[in-house]
Amino acid sequence: MHPHTTKAVADPLGWLDSHARRREEAGLRRVVRPRAPDSGAPGDPARGDPTRLLDLAGNDYLGLSRHPEVIEGGVRALRTWGAGSTGSRLVTGTTTLHGDLEDALAEHTGFAAALVFASGYAANLGVLTSLTGPEDLIVSDERNHASLVDACRLSRAQVIIVPHADVEAVDAALAERSWQHAVVVTDSVFSADGDLAPLAALHTVVRSRGALLVVDEAHSLGVVGPGGRGALADAGLAGEPDVVATVTLSKALGSQGGAVLGPPAVRAHLIDTARTFIFDTGLAPACAGAALAALGILTTTPDLADGVRRHARHLADLTGAPRPAGAVVSVVLGEPERAVRATEICRAHGVAVGCFRPPTVPPGTSRLRVAARANLTATDLARAADAFAAAIGAPGCPG
Ligand code: PMP
Repeated sequence: MHPHTTKAVADPLGWLDSHARRREEAGLRRVVRPRAPDSGAPGDPARGDPTRLLDLAGNDYLGLSRHPEVIEGGVRALRTWGAGSTGSRLVTGTTTLHGDLEDALAEHTGFAAALVFASGYAANLGVLTSLTGPEDLIVSDERNHASLVDACRLSRAQVIIVPHADVEAVDAALAERSWQHAVVVTDSVFSADGDLAPLAALHTVVRSRGALLVVDEAHSLGVVGPGGRGALADAGLAGEPDVVATVTLSKALGSQGGAVLGPPAVRAHLIDTARTFIFDTGLAPACAGAALAALGILTTTPDLADGVRRHARHLADLTGAPRPAGAVVSVVLGEPERAVRATEICRAHGVAVGCFRPPTVPPGTSRLRVAARANLTATDLARAADAFAAAIGAPGCPG
């Protein structure tokens, strides 16, 4: 008899049940459920259907994921290149579409070069791990997105986490230690709070200390700045030799994927060294084709970005939340149970909103995350007003 069959069966995953129970008791259990059909984009037959949910939870800020030209761009790419990219970007995973998309991204944002990754997460991991190592320093805002946090950890650089938007702390961190290369990294529009990093002041500090500024424009591409060119373009910093940006294609561009933007030497270095570029399968052609079409729409319809910011200000006023820099309105309610309850009330009133709890946000600041879209109608906004009144009370005095 095999010796193992006589022993009691070990239960190496037995701790998962008690872990799940503790999370349940703290109101922190996460669930995955299929998206309910929403009230659709212009041209969608379900547009305005009151039985459909109004989506204020997703990141489709410009409503482009359903735009007929974006869908057509994806379909054409599928037909031409197939469903998958078939390999690493360095082997078979680069189509002419990937190159066209990189040129269009660089042109739109005002940088000299772009490199497309399979996701924004992969772009963030790639850029920080390739540009820093054990002799180097990364100064990171305490509210940076999880992908930047993970990138800092993987880089093996010294990491100093500074208080949110604290430019003096950044300067002090750069002054404090000896380093070979230093990077200051920040979200531009913060994903859970909706505020904008002090980019001009950060750049002044970075330049005076001989460091590099890396800015994650995931929530500002397509939303902030003239024609949605991003917060760096708005601040006159796009294309500067000591500035690098990352973007996602999965929010305002309505597709999927990510990119790093910067000087050509950065692009070349990432091709040589970024593990998330080299060892990941290239972005699917349909995603590249859809993103390229979305960029075309953004270029020819520069007022789309103004529309989403106007709606975001309106939604903020309905909730009593601070007016945001971009599309993201953050309605802080406190304990997780309260945020979960408010989210459910919104849903019962036909409005889907995001529910952010620790560890995504600090304890005591659980919140509704309400994402504006450029294509909201007056009827949509009235529905949102009813839902917020029921879920959180009158603006300024959340019940
Ligand atoms: N950065 C920020 C600020 C984000 O919010 C996200 C997505 N939530 C990412 C990076 C990752 O982008 P992607 O979803 O394309 O991987």
